[in-house]
Amino acid sequence: MARRKKVYEGKAKILFEGPEPGTLIQYFKDDENGPEAGSGANVAPISAASEGKGVLNNRLSEFFMAGLNNIGVPTHFIRRLNMREQLVRMAEIIPLEILVRNFATGGISDRLGIPEGMGLPRPIMEYYFKDEKLGTPLVTEEHIIAFGWGNQQDLDDMVELALRVNDFLSGVMLGVGVRLMDFRIEIGRVWDGDYMRLILADEISPDSMTLWDLRQPERADGSVPEPGPLSDVYAELARRIGVLPSNVTHVSKPSLIN
Ligand code: ADP
Ligand code: MG
Repeated sequence: MARRKKVYEGKAKILFEGPEPGTLIQYFKDDENGPEAGSGANVAPISAASEGKGVLNNRLSEFFMAGLNNIGVPTHFIRRLNMREQLVRMAEIIPLEILVRNFATGGISDRLGIPEGMGLPRPIMEYYFKDEKLGTPLVTEEHIIAFGWGNQQDLDDMVELALRVNDFLSGVMLGVGVRLMDFRIEIGRVWDGDYMRLILADEISPDSMTLWDLRQPERADGSVPEPGPLSDVYAELARRIGVLPSNVTHVSKPSLIN
């Protein structure tokens, strides 16, 4: 019985070869200093704040991706395997982080002086080139086409996909008293024979979203505070959505394939 092959290790996840060609296993780590970061002998302690984060992100990403699959938005998600792992369809990732903004916060407020929390006149899409050495820089559609990361048809399809994801996520979040300020996704290509299509890949979790809490507790004087960032975001979102597993802090090692 051979140990399965690690394909890639990033900050949040480890990818292993899946049981069938064209599949991958995503293992959700707690953080970059989590159990799989080092050589294995010296396991770095996991900070209390991030303990169980990988377990929660695995559940949350499953919940959102399965929901999207159900309404006909294609994603890479196949099924969850265990507390920290899910089986996904392997895709050829387009090297972009696609950010959809509904309300101003972070970069757009800093860059353009738009007040934090302001509703935007329409969802605004931004593209960032997925290269950490370069600091994941903002790029335009011109760059995407000129450098061959995608053509005009891909861009149209990416916008359509991102907007459907936005409507679904915004609605689900609103249902649990959370405002989806912005979120980012990764999109990949898959082939069915000669036919290529774009699917949602990577993950949908608090790591890639800005969430504000619409259920602020009433103050002593009876006034209700303005919405602000959702605190304890992983556990709180998992609790509200209803996917909080009973044993959140259990840390499992990647299992062996049979
Ligand atoms: P990073 O530190 O690069 O963000 P992560 O820890 O999030 O990496 O690991 C996930 C990696 O797997 C990312 O590089 C992402 O592009 C890639 N990935 C996600 N979904 C798929 C998929 N379905 N097929 C191939 N690669 C994927
Ligand atoms: Mg990532």
